[in-house]
Amino acid sequence: MIRINRVELPSDLADQLHSRAGGLRESQADCPAARAAWKSAGAVRVRLAGHLNAMATGIRRCMYCGDGLGTDIDHFEPLAEAPLRAFDWPNHLLACSHCNSHQKRELFPRDEDGRPMLVDPSAEDPYGHLELVLSTGTYEALTVRGDATIKVFGLNRSDLERGRAAAFIRTEGDVPPGGGRPAVSTASPRRTLPCTDAVPRPRRWR
Ligand SMILES: [Zn+2]
Repeated sequence: MIRINRVELPSDLADQLHSRAGGLRESQADCPAARAAWKSAGAVRVRLAGHLNAMATGIRRCMYCGDGLGTDIDHFEPLAEAPLRAFDWPNHLLACSHCNSHQKRELFPRDEDGRPMLVDPSAEDPYGHLELVLSTGTYEALTVRGDATIKVFGLNRSDLERGRAAAFIRTEGDVPPGGGRPAVSTASPRRTLPCTDAVPRPRRWR
């Protein structure tokens, strides 16, 4: 999970979201009504997906695990808790089906003051909460919110760990001896960067 920079939507699309959100507020929509409204807004969802795809790291990568194909628009604050946020652009993130349907689902833990525990990569830098051990591909929590984020999104799923570690090993091997920009800090311990996305893109996608 790395920082995602949220783009500003075209004014006509932003107006459509505003209008639809107003409709939900006026009708005091509950979760089923919000889901129905969201499901019926196919053209809006297609355009939103396009903007989320452009924001994602890599090609349509999930904004949570960074690995799976981002096939779903996830409501970061679930509709079960916040149905009136169905058309709230800051609440939309691109997720793979595993993160969305098998990991996060309706989970949205809060602290004792009611503040969200999960890290929203489009609202804050995950680097403040998570640390990646490059050589093993394992995330370690720096904060209690980081711990909740790792658990809810399953960021240390074995396939993800193996993939990150393999990417790091391959990338490390691509750096020419005595030349080129180092892909990552190789100072020991190798745990300085939050994600292999930190390596230069030409090397990442080779
Ligand atoms: Zn994912």
